Amino acid sequence: MNRDKLMQQLEETTPWDVIIIGGGATGLGVAVDSATRGFRTLLLEADDFAKGTSSRSTKLVHGGVRYLEQGDIPLVLEALRERGLMHQNAPHLVHHLSFIVPRYQWWEGPFFGIGLKVYDALAGKLNLAPSRLLSREETIARIPNIEQDKLLGGVEYFDGQFDDARLAVTLVQTAVHHGACVLNYCKVTGLTKENGLTNGVTFLDTETGTTHTATAKVVINATGIFSDSIRLLDDPAATRAVQPSQGVHLVFDRSFLAGNSAIMVPHTDDGRVLFVIPWHGKVLVGTTDTAMDHADLEPRAMKEEIGFILRNAARYLSHDPEEKDILSVFAGQRPLVRPPGKDGGATKAISRNHEVLVSDSGLLTIVGGKWTTYRKMAEDTLDHAITLGGLADRPCVTGNLQLHGWRAPNAPALPEGFSVYGSDAAKVGALMEAEPALAAPIHPRLAYPMAAVVWAARHEQARTLEDVLARRTRILILDAQAAIEAAPEVATLLARELHKDTAWAENQVREFTELAKGYLNHG
Ligand SMILES: Cc1cc2nc3c(=O)[nH]c(=O)nc-3n(C[C@H](O)[C@H](O)[C@H](O)COP(=O)(O)OP(=O)(O)OC[C@H]3O[C@@H](n4cnc5c(N)ncnc54)[C@H](O)[C@@H]3O)c2cc1C
Repeated sequence: MNRDKLMQQLEETTPWDVIIIGGGATGLGVAVDSATRGFRTLLLEADDFAKGTSSRSTKLVHGGVRYLEQGDIPLVLEALRERGLMHQNAPHLVHHLSFIVPRYQWWEGPFFGIGLKVYDALAGKLNLAPSRLLSREETIARIPNIEQDKLLGGVEYFDGQFDDARLAVTLVQTAVHHGACVLNYCKVTGLTKENGLTNGVTFLDTETGTTHTATAKVVINATGIFSDSIRLLDDPAATRAVQPSQGVHLVFDRSFLAGNSAIMVPHTDDGRVLFVIPWHGKVLVGTTDTAMDHADLEPRAMKEEIGFILRNAARYLSHDPEEKDILSVFAGQRPLVRPPGKDGGATKAISRNHEVLVSDSGLLTIVGGKWTTYRKMAEDTLDHAITLGGLADRPCVTGNLQLHGWRAPNAPALPEGFSVYGSDAAKVGALMEAEPALAAPIHPRLAYPMAAVVWAARHEQARTLEDVLARRTRILILDAQAAIEAAPEVATLLARELHKDTAWAENQVREFTELAKGYLNHG
């Protein structure tokens, strides 16, 4: 995936069938759907792929036990189906995880036990494994450091877990493989129109400072929490379609959660859901749900959010995590659909968890949803785009599309740090054979080799130090201090790969260190 080649493709193609604004889960899913239906597809991302909400999730591929409790069966059914497809199509990035709901009250056994049997039944043949009641002894055996005081037992069920930013880069690779032009660091600054109808975009390549124009039969706004800013470019009178809602996660050393199961707390002290999850050798705990009055690409956790998570985690863990134990704090904002009836004049087709809005000028906006349902959201969006743009009516093929790096689920396990590359793992290994220094770990506390830096620059469109340390590897959110310590060496290697000079590398280290301080609890 060479940026120069993609830029050349950009110059040579006009018009596009579909232009997508935004390179998070939603936009990248649309790009894969559009390219695999054979449409000429351009995606423009202002920053890096998954820089926004899509690298800041809880990393669950789930039907949503919570929605079941709310009685939203269609939503759960759709998400459970997508959970199965995501595992089928990207088994190198999505795996099954055991969740245990601890029981401290007598009624919790029958209540959660029956609820989770319904969850199993709704998944049908895509169910991962049956849920079951666990005795107190079994629960302690699974989670040795669960809070044992008054513990009666647990209920175990299964859901999926994944690496969100790695899936995003996999979608980029898949879309490019199918002929799409997918570019990061290209910010859409305006929409072009003919006879009042949107027919393209103007955008700024933020690396070179050059402005470009591209035309298309359909323009799709997939900018998540920023959707309203694009809707305003289209129509200065557009009303708000999105409500950002902030969620925070804290990351701790793995010793806080022994065993291989996650803990799911259905009701925190203020009635929310809390997860304690093993992930890439650390433990993620979250999340919160705070309505925000503006969208933020790099949101910061509030003191109350950190306090809420620490307080509730302490109720379920025998060794209470404290502020000093936090390895990283990360926050993201959900692009929630604002209640219906508030988008004055726009035509809209509503689905349960996401909405496709069509403005008077024909700008298509896709909002809401979640990572788990990204594929279905893309399918719905493209179905609308075909009608709107008069495109050839070709069926969606992503239900059975193996994503880049697909590897048989029963293939021998890859070493830690390599599994996310799937079928590319051997090629990353070959880099280390050719240059043994690349076999060294990026940081002694984490499993990523220096070869990951070279691979990211050559094959994953990594353009900055942050791209490598936050999203191609996940070091920033796993251990922010380790990311700061690794920054100079990684920047030097990245500069070599991208043909940049020492001043560039030093500037990258300065900028990244400033950003990473915000992920340290004392930042
Ligand atoms: C705390 C939290 C936990 C979550 N946990 C889960 C979970 O466990 N499982 C699950 O399924 N879902 C989860 N979700 C939901 C999921 O993460 C989101 O639904 C999804 O990532 C949204 O993706 P998106 O592409 O719509 O938005 P984003 O990822 O924010 O992408 C939008 C992109 O548009 C770009 N952009 C903005 N303006 C422009 C412009 N002018 N030109 C070009 N590009 C532009 C931005 O830079 C950004 O990259 C969670 C969400 C949060 C916040």
